[in-house]
Amino acid sequence: MGIFDRQAGHGCEQVVFCSDPDTSLRAIIAVHSTRLGPALGGTRFKAYENDDDALNDVLRLARGMTYKNAAAGLDLGGGKAVIIGNPKAIRSEALIRTYGRFVDSLGGRYLTAEDVGTTQTDMDLIRRETPFVTGVDPLHGGSGDPSEATAHGVFSAMTTVVDRVWGEPDLSGRHVVVVGVGKVGGFLVARLAAAGAKVSVADINDEAVRAAVAEHGATAVPVDQAHAVQCDILSPCALGGSLNAQTVPELACGAIVGAANNQLATPDIADQLERRGIVYAPDFVVNAGGVINIAEELAGYDRSRAFARVACIAENLRSVFEIAERDSVTSEIAAERLAERRMQDVGRVSLIKTRFDRARSDHSRSER
Ligand code: NAD
Repeated sequence: MGIFDRQAGHGCEQVVFCSDPDTSLRAIIAVHSTRLGPALGGTRFKAYENDDDALNDVLRLARGMTYKNAAAGLDLGGGKAVIIGNPKAIRSEALIRTYGRFVDSLGGRYLTAEDVGTTQTDMDLIRRETPFVTGVDPLHGGSGDPSEATAHGVFSAMTTVVDRVWGEPDLSGRHVVVVGVGKVGGFLVARLAAAGAKVSVADINDEAVRAAVAEHGATAVPVDQAHAVQCDILSPCALGGSLNAQTVPELACGAIVGAANNQLATPDIADQLERRGIVYAPDFVVNAGGVINIAEELAGYDRSRAFARVACIAENLRSVFEIAERDSVTSEIAAERLAERRMQDVGRVSLIKTRFDRARSDHSRSER
């Protein structure tokens, strides 16, 4: 399939190929949708097997950001970028700043952020070339590491789920199994313990498990058995694809609410969960706290305002469950419908020209 057909297949507005042999920079920026606003999404720095894989990945990830940002209620579209190559081998100040110049050349249609393989230091370097970057150092007006905000969003989503399933928006006494106690999982365990939940944890990193047990009274469970522990909520906070044909029949939870991206190994897993009567909170709705937090940088970052907006994930998730019930579809499909409806309804608002818009364009014409 040709490049344009692949772009169209993903419904992507614009794909930009960036090359600078002097710094070994080869990057692709995919602006999937600007219907709700500038396309926000991170830059992944990765050694892809080949350029085709990189293009497929950036198109897929950019579409995911459009849905995540729309469902989160942000006035932002979705995009993503990949820098092709092993970051350990080719990262340099010149390469990152050259990439920043390419981001700048899009004039704000694409806003970048940190992703797998890039760091806050990279964002600070990009900031020296363009204002169209988020997740920079708090010293430069940024919001810093988004993990605590993401955990805050996951916790808020859990309150909606316990209310729906057990009729009480209170996590006290609920048993939650957190799989992956890294940056997000670690903050989440602390919040759950403070709320009086019974917390079990699993991680391939023994040190992380020991810390959760010692600091928050969590119970350690083996990694390969964690998904099968009898509990109220299973919270995948490690890798994607953990809900699959092998694990779903063994699940013993009432609901699944976690931070990990792409938890469903294949789309039909959502139907399997539904048949088993397990409530699934779609990951891209639940884990939007990070992106909501960095989006606040665009208005001048304020932590308490950002965290208040992140808490709206509880309400977004309620809407998802209402759509699922009304349309008799899985929560995953309902979440996609929520995002699509917002793009359709709110997206057309900008088509309505006001007197103010006209005055502004008249003014800029007279300035020229
Ligand atoms: P992290 O790397 O800090 O933590 C992941 C943890 O999972 C680590 O402690 C790791 O040892 C553990 N782990 C890895 N493989 C495991 C396995 N097979 N079983 C159990 N534990 C395993 O990452 P993070 O920033 O906490 O992100 C966690 C997940 O949430 C990722 O899927 C990420 O894409 C997603 N996410 C994170 C954010 C954010 O703000 N950090 C935002 C949105 C989504």
